[in-house]
Amino acid sequence: MKKWQSGLLLLLGLVVAFCLYVFIQLRTIEVEQLSDDLFVLRGLGGNTAVLRTDAGAVVVDTMMLPMQGERIRELAGELTGKEPALLINTHYHIDHTHGNPAFEPGTRVLSTERTLSHLKALDAEFWQGDAARLLPTETFTDRMTLNVGGKTLELIHPGAGHTDGDLVVLFKDEGVLHTGDLMFNHYYPNIDLEAGGSVQQWVGTLENLLRLDFTRVIPGHGETSDRAGLRQFLAVIAQLAGIGRTAAEKGWTLERTLETDQLTADAGYRRVRMIFPLPMNREFVITRAWEETTGNFKRLD
Ligand SMILES: [Zn+2]
Repeated sequence: MKKWQSGLLLLLGLVVAFCLYVFIQLRTIEVEQLSDDLFVLRGLGGNTAVLRTDAGAVVVDTMMLPMQGERIRELAGELTGKEPALLINTHYHIDHTHGNPAFEPGTRVLSTERTLSHLKALDAEFWQGDAARLLPTETFTDRMTLNVGGKTLELIHPGAGHTDGDLVVLFKDEGVLHTGDLMFNHYYPNIDLEAGGSVQQWVGTLENLLRLDFTRVIPGHGETSDRAGLRQFLAVIAQLAGIGRTAAEKGWTLERTLETDQLTADAGYRRVRMIFPLPMNREFVITRAWEETTGNFKRLD
């Protein structure tokens, strides 16, 4: 075999191995049981919750590919012994919604009104053709109480933060709150200023969450947490909000703001990984805080 031929073979082998690795990563979903009826599914993308009710399974968020949605649908059936009756999307980002099209058209899908408008305006290309059949079918603005198959769920839009349309799901019978991306557990959060996200408002939004009655927390990314974990995340967001305000008051440049870094509550925080680590790190969150208070960003809708 010529040298270039064996080089090509090696390259092909590497490509195949990488594709296999990605495929396995996408198919791998770890299950954690929080109560008799409530499960967390963890894989590449945001955390999914599955609740067993007498009327069928309730699924919160669907990760980032229809193929993951397939797996979530299978697991929801296996874990609850019921077909999915209802999907809830906490917000519009692809790693929480792109699994939706794997579900049966006609499935009830809930989100806030803002989330539906972001899906249509900011992710329009994906939500065309058949996929559009799994867009939210019912929306609300501030709060909605759901009684499904003997379970009570409160869906609440507690204010802006990660975007301006996030909802949280309070599983009342289980005392568990799914925060969507309003909480990242020991990961640097994405702050989507372009879709109405706000570090400044995120503080009050998290304070609103802490007024709710729950003991455990399913964050958008990371391990299952609790009230203390949510308060810890609030400490990071509150510091970032302070950094943004100080920078604007003193007229600091971004460079000066980054040099004068007063973020200390983020010990142990990492970058979210999805195959590769995402660009959200310490510098990213401080930059976003600065961009918000100095007006250096552009709303997309
Ligand atoms: Zn998100």
